[in-house]
Amino acid sequence: MRKVYLDNAATTPVSDEVIESMVKNLKQTFGNPSSSHHFGREAKGQLEEARRKIATAIHAKPSQICFTSCGTESNNSVLKNAFQSLQIERILVSPIEHPSIHATIKEVAQDIEIVYLPIDKFGSILTDSLEKLLSEGNKKTLVSVMHANNEVGALNDIETICKISKKYNAFVHSDMVQTMGHLPLNMEALGIDFVAASAHKFHGPKGVGFLYIKNPNCLKPFISGGSQERGMRSGTENMASIIGMSVALEHAVKNIADDEAYVNNLRKSMAEKLGNTILDIEIITNLENSLYTVLTIGFPEIMSNDMLTFQLDMKGIACSSGSACSSGANKGSHVLEALNYPKERKAIRFSFSKFNKMDEIEYAVEKIVELYTETVK
Ligand code: PLP
Repeated sequence: MRKVYLDNAATTPVSDEVIESMVKNLKQTFGNPSSSHHFGREAKGQLEEARRKIATAIHAKPSQICFTSCGTESNNSVLKNAFQSLQIERILVSPIEHPSIHATIKEVAQDIEIVYLPIDKFGSILTDSLEKLLSEGNKKTLVSVMHANNEVGALNDIETICKISKKYNAFVHSDMVQTMGHLPLNMEALGIDFVAASAHKFHGPKGVGFLYIKNPNCLKPFISGGSQERGMRSGTENMASIIGMSVALEHAVKNIADDEAYVNNLRKSMAEKLGNTILDIEIITNLENSLYTVLTIGFPEIMSNDMLTFQLDMKGIACSSGSACSSGANKGSHVLEALNYPKERKAIRFSFSKFNKMDEIEYAVEKIVELYTETVK
């Protein structure tokens, strides 16, 4: 049976150039970057070259990049530090953040007031409401808003959010796990304080990410020990993965415009073909203002059952529903709930990458229509 992978928001295939760079590092540069002999110095050189590549890709300084184990760790590092290191008294947050933000916020809620920002019907926060909240009171505030939502692709206007927040001296953190390597990003121009990223969402390896920190010394160390990562995160660095991540981001940024046009065309084609064929289908993702890799579709009630992703999988289509990236937990989606999406209808997320081909989209549409026809019969 043919298999089509349309779950790239969960993770992306690792590209050949990334694998080659990782294997080369594992074979040739096994030294510990903290060792002072030449094996260590060579490894250290590669580590700093990777940091430089990542910083260049997002218009930052190498000293502002701290390597972590994943996007989840990057988000945790900021939020768990907010009270102690930044004396934050209030966090303004979107209600449809990833669990690595929501669960962490719950842990700090005894020290910090948490306020959920209003969103529009597609899931983007209302910047006027943000300004109103910031103008009220004088609590030291951290604004934590994801750049693009992982379940429906809703984009937040991070430039305006940063501008407004700076006006009221608020810190800004953004979970950019879904947009890093997919949209052009300029940290210097944004003036943002913290950004979380994860390599496996842009064709790098799993288990490695980074945190951009505007003022590198403003947070207390997240992991204590041998003072790696300029004392921020101790532990011997995951060298091969860090190098793989830097190669992945360098490539992603180089081809960003072409990849966006290509992937957007795949998404548009799938939305049109399904919309034209299956009655009562609903495109939940706002195609005019969303991350081009994500297409979330509400299926007609007649097809909506808990087995829908399984039925599609049986036809060779890999996609996901609800909170797909939270370790198989079969909970309802807090995102769809916040968007008031009716529970009786099943929403499925198809997500694309530059490695998908148009004939895969055609095949997926054919199989979805086949399933629909079998269901209505
Ligand atoms: N934030 C968002 C928006 C995500 O989509 C994900 C992963 O799915 C994460 C954070 C967590 O990233 P990681 O898997 O690297 O921990």
